[in-house]
Amino acid sequence: MTPIIIANWKMNPVTLVKSKRDFEIIKQGVKNVKNVKTVVCAPFVFLSNLKPGSGLALGAQDCFYNDKGPFTGEISPVQLRNLKTEYVILGHSERRKYLGESTELVNQKIIAALAADIKVIFCVGSETEKPGKEIKYQLEKGLKNIKEKDFSKLIFVYEPVWAISTTKNKIIATPAQTTKGCLYMRNILKKIFNKKTAKEARIIYGGSVDSKNIKGFLKEGKMAGGLVGAASLNPYEFIRTVKEAAKA
Ligand code: PEP
Repeated sequence: MTPIIIANWKMNPVTLVKSKRDFEIIKQGVKNVKNVKTVVCAPFVFLSNLKPGSGLALGAQDCFYNDKGPFTGEISPVQLRNLKTEYVILGHSERRKYLGESTELVNQKIIAALAADIKVIFCVGSETEKPGKEIKYQLEKGLKNIKEKDFSKLIFVYEPVWAISTTKNKIIATPAQTTKGCLYMRNILKKIFNKKTAKEARIIYGGSVDSKNIKGFLKEGKMAGGLVGAASLNPYEFIRTVKEAAKA
């Protein structure tokens, strides 16, 4: 499976000028990297100014569960689609933590995004080192009423909460831990869908990924890609991460 490397810029940068500059630097840097899919998930306010192409796709970091209407402050998946947004991150632990997002709400958003033909980067994770029942709950409830035909539009992110943005103190997961997390998720997916579909699921890893550790997660960890937060804020480091992924 061709690995996918996804930048999650979160609430960065603070100016439109820098977002456009960084996006273009990344676009130039990855245009000749053939065997990796590359995505940048940018803040809503910049999306209409970022021009995907040359192998770089555009993603958002959230969406609402209706297409239009009286929902003050929300952004719909159809609006995103109309801006050439191909991907959306849903279920991120920071939204669960700071905005109280429930898995039921995430499920509604996933259904709406898929209906708008947007690929969903569905984050699941737990506070515990061993993948456990929180992940089971997030997958079972988050995927309720998702049609099997839409399965190929889902990217699952194994994102242990304790390993996110730890670049300074380096509490990162090991490739062996990510393999375990991936297996655990695949077994749950087997029960929700079936063996064949679960086997084909794209499961990637997120949590302090950078250019130095990505190869380990892809090769030894057997992950199908990486979600990159802090390390994607330096466009050159993100390009290095994509290039390292291409070598894995
Ligand atoms: C994230 O939160 O999606 C993430 C991967 O962040 P970081 O790489 O900073 O851990």
